[in-house]
Amino acid sequence: MIYKRVLLKLSGEALLGERSYGIDPKRIAQYAKDIKTITDLGIEVAVVIGGGNIFRGVSAASNGIDRVQGDYMGMLATVINGMALQSSLEEVCVQTRLQTAIKIEAVAEPYIKRKAVRHLEKKRVVIFGGGTGNPFFTTDSAAVLRAIEINADVILKGTRVDGVYDSDPEKNKKAKKYDTISFSDVLSKNLKIMDSTALEEIEFIIESCEESMTNAIKHLEKELLNIRAGKANPSMLSSVKVDYYGATTPLSQIANINTPDSQTLSVQPWEKDKLQDIEKAIMVANLGFNPMNNGESILINIPPLTEERRKELVKIAKSEIEIAKVSVRNARKDANNEIKKIDVSTDQKAISEEDVQSLTNKYVSKIDSIFASKEKEILSV
Ligand code: UDP
Repeated sequence: MIYKRVLLKLSGEALLGERSYGIDPKRIAQYAKDIKTITDLGIEVAVVIGGGNIFRGVSAASNGIDRVQGDYMGMLATVINGMALQSSLEEVCVQTRLQTAIKIEAVAEPYIKRKAVRHLEKKRVVIFGGGTGNPFFTTDSAAVLRAIEINADVILKGTRVDGVYDSDPEKNKKAKKYDTISFSDVLSKNLKIMDSTALEEIEFIIESCEESMTNAIKHLEKELLNIRAGKANPSMLSSVKVDYYGATTPLSQIANINTPDSQTLSVQPWEKDKLQDIEKAIMVANLGFNPMNNGESILINIPPLTEERRKELVKIAKSEIEIAKVSVRNARKDANNEIKKIDVSTDQKAISEEDVQSLTNKYVSKIDSIFASKEKEILSV
């Protein structure tokens, strides 16, 4: 045998099989059988398992979960996968031990290097869960760390593709496969064979940058809603609040708001005796409307805009557009400043800055098209 002791890194995604989330029982059973084939040859096997099929800290952070909290959730996800693999291995009569970097003694032994080595010598498969036990790392780092600690002869990584390519073969049919490749080429070509913590950091910076840009668009869209082209729209009354049995309640929750024609808003309360309160609330909201109470409903006439007023509104919209573009550019500046601080090659920095630039271009052109349609809306009579 070339290798006596191997460390197998299984990514969480490798457990997905045909699924988009969770664990495919057939796939994990197959892995258990494959591992058994190797252990039957007398080879010692340790496994580091990922959690990406269940939870990833970086993606969670881009959705507003605290990064450190998200990373711990990711580490727990790797423990769940570890437990699943342990059970599948025991199903095919392979002796196992699960050791975790975070203590969860009801389900696993805490990680102790000496003990892990002892288990391996006794031909037990040792599964390492919980990654390195530290946030801001990935299970690829854990695989390398554990391999060194247990003195493994080799690290084998199980993923969804069968080798190292110049681009993702699942996305690019013409991707070129490398027979051999140097470590520095992996980094300079940004091949993403193994997660590097630094690359994860960059991914996080770019995701946060995109989030800020999306927020700039959301804010812009909200501000533009307040610039009315004069056509009746129920949202024109969205700021109106009515005193409803002592509770300040949005008008839309106690009345039907309709637009019988493009110049008229009609407000029909669920309870007729609220008509006067509603009328008063519309006046108080200071929208420049003149509500008419006909005893059944309230009608509001929206006067058509003058040419001059329309041009003024386009100008106001344009100033909101500029504010949004400044936010997008600030997000670019912040991301580039963060990237400068990360410890990666100059090439990698340049690639990442290009990514940030193409995000910027994407969002600036989004803003331009939002403006074009708003301008059209304001100017169309
Ligand atoms: N994780 C961590 N520290 C570690 C290992 C993992 O914080 O040492 C967290 C991190 O949030 C990561 C998640 O656990 O996104 C799942 O691990 P990983 O992404 O490496 O799983 P894989 O891509 O191998 O499925």
